[in-house]
Amino acid sequence: MEVKAVFLDRDGTIIEDVHYLSRLEDIKLMPLAKEGLTLMKECGYKLIVVTNQSGIGRGYFSEDFVRKTHEVLNDMLDNLIDAFYFCPHRPEDNCSCRKPKPGMIDQAVKDFGINKEKSFVVGDKETDVELGLNAGVTPLLVVNRENAHLLENTKAKAFFSNLYEVAMWICRKGFMV
Ligand SMILES: [Mg+2]
Ligand SMILES: [Zn+2]
Repeated sequence: MEVKAVFLDRDGTIIEDVHYLSRLEDIKLMPLAKEGLTLMKECGYKLIVVTNQSGIGRGYFSEDFVRKTHEVLNDMLDNLIDAFYFCPHRPEDNCSCRKPKPGMIDQAVKDFGINKEKSFVVGDKETDVELGLNAGVTPLLVVNRENAHLLENTKAKAFFSNLYEVAMWICRKGFMV
């Protein structure tokens, strides 16, 4: 059986971007995020979070805190997320996992045997779009009040205002051969 996935950015895509989230009580789902993820799951996609968490490398919070955050988040989502990958490094560390480098997607593809051509990347920054292009996965953009300026010059395949819209588009596409 073929494994297809949606690779999801975390901050600003699934939960509100509070910039270096460091308190569990600041975890707040974006509008229609849970509904969208539920629909993606129903259409047969694995849901994999890929997130840059340089706050670890900068000493703002620990790797354990990020793992705990992901536990709490997945509880809120009734365990819809199949896996969380995070990059703990700072830009100057020059690692191979910090988005837009494709390291986290490459690892997930190996771990789950994912078919990249049937998969999507969804995020709220152009680095997420570039991640998709670098990894060979179709990039989609979620646009909100803060990042609407990206629309002028994005390389995203399509854009949407929330994860439920994304899910409807992805699922409709999934039915076409
Ligand atoms: Mg983001
Ligand atoms: Zn990294």
